[in-house]
Amino acid sequence: MTYPDTQLFINGQWCDAEGGRTLAVFNPATGSQIGRLAHAGVPDLERAAQAAQKGFELWRDVPANERSAIMRKAAALMRERAPQIAELLTQEQGKPLAEAKVEVMSSADIIEWFAEEGRRVYGRIVPPRNINVQQNVIKQPVGPVAAFTPWNFPINQAVRKMSAALATGCSIIVKAPEETPAAPAELIRAFHDAGVPGGVIGLVFGTPADISSYLIAHPLIRKITFTGSTPVGKQLAAMAGQHMKRATMELGGHAPVIVAEDGDIALALKTAGAAKFRNAGQVCISPTRFLVHHKIADEFAKTFAAYAESLQVGDGLTAGSQMGPLANERRLLAMQAIVKDARAKGAKVLTGGERIGSQGHFFAPTVMSHVPLDADVVTHEPFGPIAAIRTFEQIEDAIAEANRLPFGLAGYAFTGSLKTAHLLTQRLEVGMLWVNQPAAPWPELPFGGMKDSGYGSEGGPEALEAYLNTKTVSIFNA
Ligand code: NAD
Repeated sequence: MTYPDTQLFINGQWCDAEGGRTLAVFNPATGSQIGRLAHAGVPDLERAAQAAQKGFELWRDVPANERSAIMRKAAALMRERAPQIAELLTQEQGKPLAEAKVEVMSSADIIEWFAEEGRRVYGRIVPPRNINVQQNVIKQPVGPVAAFTPWNFPINQAVRKMSAALATGCSIIVKAPEETPAAPAELIRAFHDAGVPGGVIGLVFGTPADISSYLIAHPLIRKITFTGSTPVGKQLAAMAGQHMKRATMELGGHAPVIVAEDGDIALALKTAGAAKFRNAGQVCISPTRFLVHHKIADEFAKTFAAYAESLQVGDGLTAGSQMGPLANERRLLAMQAIVKDARAKGAKVLTGGERIGSQGHFFAPTVMSHVPLDADVVTHEPFGPIAAIRTFEQIEDAIAEANRLPFGLAGYAFTGSLKTAHLLTQRLEVGMLWVNQPAAPWPELPFGGMKDSGYGSEGGPEALEAYLNTKTVSIFNA
């Protein structure tokens, strides 16, 4: 599919920015420009906010089963269009085509789950203290939502927010990522083609800080939701607080992978090891800090490095590519700095550690062992294809190391002991823990973190709750 220019979507219409401003889009595998996108200014944002209010007033009154039917149609369209959309996604983001297809196909699963769950937004009747009173608790959509979504999963990060909003009767303006605009635009197109009325969904791009400060402060916007880095999340959450807006924050992580002495090394490598290099490590739940029992650490590190070396790195559109380029130059520079710092502090680079070639943003899958605690990589989220291995002797030490950081998103553990699994369940400060298995963030499961990884959930019934107001209604009838 030829890569298109991307427009804004306001009030049911695709349109250029009022000022005509555009930005360039680049392919991270080649470094060349592949298209342009419209850059919204204040008049565009104001039109989007007004349209979202009108859309909300209409959509909230559409019965839940009808909203559900429209959403299911959108899911079917995403499946039907998956091959074309996946190609756009790979061109703008870099991930291998197979991973892009999984992202598009799983977006359809997410839409369907929310479409169903939206039909089960129940209130309750509370026994009264007076027989002439009926006490009801009802749930109502919070109102127009502003969503800010990142470039690592341009569809997946937007679809969770859109599905929860649409299922509950909210309208939503998505500020999708400027670096990867075409794939999320196709998601919006699918919802529109499925019959979501104009105004209910909006799509804008531009200068992120300008858009967030305009929309968060806007009186018509009732809720914000952000996925991205912790520093930006803190700024947006503070702004939301200032304007008393509901907020969901899905922020950075630095997932520990605890491999206990009785853990299945082969399984750990097959699952967490492979997951490390998915989307070139640019995943908020990416396994990053491998905490391995000292007796098995050498074998683990050797096998992990051999696996990393075997990966075929290349353009995501080329058949056989298992890992694509980093999505932008910032990540490439960050990887170089992380390895330099770790090396200087005594870490052993077992494989990788360097840029591949001079065209595109390719970086070799990297495994480092003997990484000291003061190395940047074990404290700051690498968000790239770098695994850092450290050892431990007692499981309590691994837990302390896992909990040392302010992040608390995902965690992984491999152990043959139920007692250890129970201890980790109780003690690890993470929002999601996967034991003896890869990450399985199904839409029916809560998805979110604690501590600096944010608050709120983007899966399970909790995800809908975030888009609902609770109203108590007490009716006296003598
Ligand atoms: P960044 O902090 O500049 O931006 C992160 C995301 O936030 C981007 O999508 C960006 O468009 C958006 N953003 C930035 N400032 C904003 C603002 N004022 N208002 C609204 N949106 C804003 O960093 P980056 O270089 O794009 O990404 C690197 C870091 O971001 C990574 O190290 C990682 O920690 C984090 N990140 C996390 C996720 C995630 O899934 N949680 C996704 C992408 C990036």
